[in-house]
Amino acid sequence: MPKIPYGRQCIDDNDIKAVTETLCSDYLTTGPKITEFENSVASFCGATHGVAVSNGTAALHATLAALDIQPGDEIIVPPMTFAASANCVLYRGATPVFADVEEGTLLIDPSRIEEKITDKTKAIIAVDYAGQPCDWDQLHSLALKYNLPLVADGCHALGARWNGKKVGTMADMTVFSFHPVKHVATGEGGMILTNSKQLAEKLRIFRNHGITTDARAREKTGAWYYEMQELGYNYRLTDIQAALGISQMKKLPNFLERRREIATFYDHQFTKSTVRPLTVHAMAEHAYHLYVVRLQNRDTVYEQLRNKGIFAQVHYIPVHLHPYYKENLGTFEGLCPVAEAAYQEILSLPMFPSLTDEEMHYVADTVLELA
Ligand SMILES: *Cc1c(COP(=O)(O)O)cnc(C)c1O
Repeated sequence: MPKIPYGRQCIDDNDIKAVTETLCSDYLTTGPKITEFENSVASFCGATHGVAVSNGTAALHATLAALDIQPGDEIIVPPMTFAASANCVLYRGATPVFADVEEGTLLIDPSRIEEKITDKTKAIIAVDYAGQPCDWDQLHSLALKYNLPLVADGCHALGARWNGKKVGTMADMTVFSFHPVKHVATGEGGMILTNSKQLAEKLRIFRNHGITTDARAREKTGAWYYEMQELGYNYRLTDIQAALGISQMKKLPNFLERRREIATFYDHQFTKSTVRPLTVHAMAEHAYHLYVVRLQNRDTVYEQLRNKGIFAQVHYIPVHLHPYYKENLGTFEGLCPVAEAAYQEILSLPMFPSLTDEEMHYVADTVLELA
């Protein structure tokens, strides 16, 4: 029987060679591979600065530190996302305020954001859920109207575009993850892209304990002196991981092409069936981290797919329904009805570049048979 996961990494001999070479080099961490990886992701997306960190969650945390978010501040977040998109707000002692999503796309609903803005609101985190960009034009209008910074959780959306513009350039800061199920894998890894030199500088200090120069910069100037000016973290990525990232970035265009090919195939197979893929906006070029469908009998389909070796997954339990949030923030069922209704029906089908034609046919046929 096959065993097909919903997502997985795609590693070849060149990736392995890149990592082994770095293992034999002078730097295992904070060396030349970090800058090279940062430049590679930034230039792919058309952003000015890239700051590599240890994972996507650290990247989210760093954006809120760079914005100097404080206890008492409110940050607007969508509920249909991985918990980390909201947890980062709690790391700063601030309060996540959930704005419900749109029915068709499950992306944050700009009109719902506006209802939630108060004089305590200090930023909006928008998640390009499944790999489809949010309506960044509407988000910009809101940001301008209320003078709020925008953070994009782009962990699903490396390579996606909105209205021709790449994810990575539209928010004040955009966050990516390089977890094995994401577009580019480094094991664990993350990055923030920004066009602001000032924000980039703050992010670099935050990832290195709050210390103003890194060891390599000190080595260059021959100076031993360094100063900690604020409380930061050790959120550094290693050169070993960055080497893998650089090698993976070379294959990103092919990865994206294959993901889109699989999505087109699924779309075609599911037309005129009870399997309902999410809506894709006309202005969006989707990056398909996930291929999400809605099914009336989701729980049975999930179970039976497992029995047939297809390991689909549910993305996500709305964040405000997690026990931690209910107990500590007083969130409740009914707070975000659109996300909650979707949660009963959504299922992410296998979607990764090395999924074979045979496998994708098997997945589509099996889903159609069960739905
Ligand atoms: C994967 C992911 C993260 C966290 O990234 P890690 O690298 O696993 O810490 C954050 N937000 C979203 C939407 C994600 O999918």
